[in-house]
Amino acid sequence: MSSTAQTAAAGVEKTPLETYVPPAMPSLVGLSRAELMELLGGIGVAPAQRRMRAQQLWHWLYVRGARDFEAMSNVSKDMRAELARHFTLHRPEVVAEQISTDGTRKWLLRLPGEGIAGRAHEVECVYIPETDRGTLCVSSQVGCTLNCAFCHTGTQRWVRNLTAGEIVGQIMIARDRLGDWADRDTANGGRLVTNVVMMGMGEPLYNFDAVRNALHVVSDNEGIGISRRRITLSTSGVVPNIVRAGEEIGVMLAVSLHAVTDELRDQLVPLNRKYPIAELMAACRDYPGLSNARRITFEYVMLKGINDSLADARALVRLLKGIPAKINLIPFNPWPGTAYECSDWNQIETFSDYVFNAGYSSPVRTPRGRDILAACGQLKSETEKLSARERDALRAMAMTD
Ligand code: SAH
Ligand code: SF4
Repeated sequence: MSSTAQTAAAGVEKTPLETYVPPAMPSLVGLSRAELMELLGGIGVAPAQRRMRAQQLWHWLYVRGARDFEAMSNVSKDMRAELARHFTLHRPEVVAEQISTDGTRKWLLRLPGEGIAGRAHEVECVYIPETDRGTLCVSSQVGCTLNCAFCHTGTQRWVRNLTAGEIVGQIMIARDRLGDWADRDTANGGRLVTNVVMMGMGEPLYNFDAVRNALHVVSDNEGIGISRRRITLSTSGVVPNIVRAGEEIGVMLAVSLHAVTDELRDQLVPLNRKYPIAELMAACRDYPGLSNARRITFEYVMLKGINDSLADARALVRLLKGIPAKINLIPFNPWPGTAYECSDWNQIETFSDYVFNAGYSSPVRTPRGRDILAACGQLKSETEKLSARERDALRAMAMTD
């Protein structure tokens, strides 16, 4: 857990719980080569053999997606039995799956280990297929310590950081569900999960070490093999960790800006009271490796009558001057109980035309999966309202297709 996350400023952050109790048998999912070698040493594998054994495991885990030690045909029978005595290959478990008419799939995942306040730990993961790519939206925390005013995840009470294994496990379960491992028949257009965005539940830069370690595993080109250029980390603006993310993780950066004045951003993204816009922009300018081919994406949620005027668009363009940037306008996704509304389509177009004419690519993110409880954090909350019986029924549905 990062020390920043523990120094909770009143009203800005919740304090994450430290209650994670890992399962008795550790899962190998999410481990690096060095960690695999260390565990192998712990069960008596001779030093001279560790590297080779770890490499074998790495291949079975991250290229083949093995779910059972028995599948590891080039590992001796004795070794397989020894591995199964000490470890598992568990990933998060699908509790509910919803498939939108547009092909978007949303999974509610139950994490191994003991839960919070008598409930299992659950997070969401969403797969969004497009013609030229398939993007997986991955969570970094159960809930979020921050309280952005328009975000449903921010309203959830309990927070804990995911482990690196639980983050990598989301990509693995997606490949499991989609049949997207190395043995897939790729004649019809290659891999299904080609891109990862850390835009699910949680603030990734408040779970820095686990996110970094997980993304190193995910981007290794001899394993899961999703290159850093195809991974985007979205932050609400944890300034001290932004440049560090560029140096130590090296993925693409997205910044949830949403407002152009401190006065408004203090309300929408309360973390702004700690790290105001000027400091955030300075960190963005310092982000390593920026160029016209490697731009920062600035996310801007379109809230009717709040931040969507032409004057806001002008101020946005002024603010981003000199930073290689893209602007991603996100139609607000309403959730039960929110006071905000999505901007009218005309207004979004006017805003988008202005930033486009100022030289920014400004795609409006097409709302996906609107028919399946789309807003961030919503599947989890809706499912929590269901009775135990309904949850079991959903789970059975998820298991049978
Ligand atoms: N905590 C990180 C990443 C997760 S949120 C962050 O805030 O950047 C991913 C993106 O979804 C952020 O830009 C966030 O502001 C946006 N978002 C959250 N709730 C939303 C909603 N109801 N409608 C549209 N966008 C939302
Ligand atoms: Fe957390 Fe991001 Fe939601 Fe803000 S927008 S509450 S940082 S998940």
